[in-house]
Amino acid sequence: MTANKWLRLTDCGGKPRSGELKAVDGALASYQADQLSARLTALRETLEQWKRSQGSGEEWKSSAWNQQPQEGKPVEMLDAWIAKKERILQDDKRGAIPALQAAAKTVYDAYQSLMPDAYRSALETTFVAPPDNVYCYKRYETKADWEDHLRKKATASGHDIKGSDVISASTPTLTWGLDRVDDEIVRVSHNIKAYDAPGNRRIEFHDYSNHHTLTHEMLHWVCHEQFRLDSMKQQFGEDFEYVQEGFTEWLARNALNEWTTGGYWRIMDYVIEAVKSGHPSAEALKRAYFEGQGVTAAGQDMVRYIKQERIARAQKINQDEIDDCLRLMRRYTRLRDPSTAGDDFVRRMKAVFQGVSDAERRRQLGNTSPWLAALP
Ligand SMILES: [Zn+2]
Repeated sequence: MTANKWLRLTDCGGKPRSGELKAVDGALASYQADQLSARLTALRETLEQWKRSQGSGEEWKSSAWNQQPQEGKPVEMLDAWIAKKERILQDDKRGAIPALQAAAKTVYDAYQSLMPDAYRSALETTFVAPPDNVYCYKRYETKADWEDHLRKKATASGHDIKGSDVISASTPTLTWGLDRVDDEIVRVSHNIKAYDAPGNRRIEFHDYSNHHTLTHEMLHWVCHEQFRLDSMKQQFGEDFEYVQEGFTEWLARNALNEWTTGGYWRIMDYVIEAVKSGHPSAEALKRAYFEGQGVTAAGQDMVRYIKQERIARAQKINQDEIDDCLRLMRRYTRLRDPSTAGDDFVRRMKAVFQGVSDAERRRQLGNTSPWLAALP
C-alpha cells in the first residue's frame, strides 16, 4: 500500500479528512520513506486511533472511508497490509534461529555419535531442525537490552557490574531447577521445553555472540546432566573452571578446529596442553562430557596436571620481576606502551620476558598489550 494509493482509495469526493485520518496519511508516507520498525509501530498506532475515533467497536468498518465501490474496503486493506508487515518483522526477529541452528549443526556433526539418544534428539528437534516453537533460548536484540538484562541480574544477585564488564560478559546457558508446583508457569515464561536435561536449559545471548561462542553455549546446552552436576564448585572448588569451562571450550575448539581463538584464553593454553598429554585423553573428556561417565576422574586428572604445569612454568620465569614491571605499568600509563616507555624500561622488559612463551606473555600482560608485538 503506497501513500498515493491510500489517498486515492479514501478520496470521498472532497469530504474533509479528520486530524486522526491525516495522522494515518502522514504515518504511512513516513513509513514508505524509510521502513523502520518504529515507523510501522507508529502507523499501527495512528490507524488504531482513527478506528477509535469512529466508535468504540467495529463502527469504522461501515464508515464512508472504508467504502470504495471498485477496489474494496480501503481501511481493511491497509489494516491487513500492516498486519503482514508486522508478521515479517516478527520473523526478522527470529534471525536468531539461523545462528543457533548453525552452532547446533557444528556440535551435531562433530559429536552426535557420542550423545545418548535423548540428548541427540533434543538437539535435533530444538535447534538443528527449523523449530516451530521458539524454545530454550532468549535473544537480546540490542546491546542496550543485553546490558539492561545483565544489570538486573547482577543487582538481583548482589553484584555490581559496570560498563565494559557488562558488554564483555559472556553468553550464559542456564539450567532451570523446575519447581513442580508451578512448573508450567516457569516453563512458559522462560520458554523451556522440558523438565529434564537438556530441555530445561536456556541459552541467553545477544546479537554480538559469534559462531564460536554459540557453539560453546550449544555444548553447555547438550552436555550430560551428570557432567553438569559433577563439574561444579562443590567438587572442584576454584578449579571448577578448568573442568566446566575448559572441557566445553576444548570441545568447541575441537569441533571448529580453531585452537588459538575463542573464550577462556587464560586457561585454554593449559587445558589444551593437558589433553595433548593425555590428562585426560580426548576420549575420556568426551565420555565425561556427553555420557556423564568418569567426570570426577577426568576432571581431577586435568586439574592435577595443570597445577603441576603451573608450578613448573612459574619456576622457569621470574615472577617477582614480572610483577614489579606490571606494578610500574599500573602506576605509569606511558610504560604500558613500548613506544613511550623509554629505552631503560624496554631493555628491562626484554630481559624479564626472555624465554617466556607467547601464551605466558599473553597471560601476564593481557591479550591486547602492545608489548606482545614489541618483545622479541
Ligand atoms: Zn561456558
